[in-house]
Amino acid sequence: MFGIKDKTALITGASRGIGKSIAELFCQRGIKVAGISRDITPINEIQIPSSTSGSIKGYSCDIADWENVKEMVLKVLEDFERIDILINNAGITKDTLLARMTEEQWDDVLIVNLKGAFNCTRHVIRPMLKQKFGRIINIGSVVGIMGNTGQANYVASKAGLMGLTKSSAQELAKRNITVNCIAPGFITTSMTENLSEDIKSQMKKTIPMGRFGTPKDVAALALFLASDESGYITGQTITVDGGMVMK
Ligand code: NDP
Repeated sequence: MFGIKDKTALITGASRGIGKSIAELFCQRGIKVAGISRDITPINEIQIPSSTSGSIKGYSCDIADWENVKEMVLKVLEDFERIDILINNAGITKDTLLARMTEEQWDDVLIVNLKGAFNCTRHVIRPMLKQKFGRIINIGSVVGIMGNTGQANYVASKAGLMGLTKSSAQELAKRNITVNCIAPGFITTSMTENLSEDIKSQMKKTIPMGRFGTPKDVAALALFLASDESGYITGQTITVDGGMVMK
């Protein structure tokens, strides 16, 4: 069992998909979770087994908004007193070919996916620096490594997250704060459900394991990277993609 019980985690995008799966696993392992999204109804409906000391509370916040994030982090600290783990998971897509991409589509994706992670990191590192402990996990994507047609805005945001991971890992290492990035491949969630069957079957052919990933596949790595045992790993991007990208 990883050393993680009784820690406090702030997880963005905890209302569904990958973020929800990480929140559920963390609660099962005795972590107190502050779950962030704009609509928190699904977060407050997450069922926690009675046998665990873990818990979850939802906080409504638009991570794109600096002031909104500042207030949300203060509220979380009032309720939980510390934040040990930050999972920058919330993300959106607005896909279209570069030649058709509007300024708004570019800005919307960069502001949520990249600036949102900066906003949360910037406000959460203050208590982490004081307590000389922290685990920050950014959820990137394999397309941030490979590129992808029709996703220039999304790919730029995910490549940016890998850079943010490395710089913040270098700056924070001496205070025992690790920063890593998980790059999922194709994971079955609401983000991917609307892709055509044709695109899905093309993509499956590029996955050596021959199946799409599940949110639980990503949550398992997040649990390890959040634990005491991962303390000598920092600045890394680790793929969870059934072998799609091999570096
Ligand atoms: P979902 O669309 O299922 O969930 C996205 C979550 O982010 C929701 O909880 C949503 O809640 C929240 N969110 C979106 N915008 C904001 C915002 N401005 N402020 C606060 N919360 C917000 O996505 P996935 O679970 O599929 O993806 C999670 C992460 O994993 C993303 O960063 C995504 O890019 C990445 N990823 C996903 C892959 C996949 O195949 N699914 C592959 C690679 C990476 P609400 O709308 O209520 O705010």
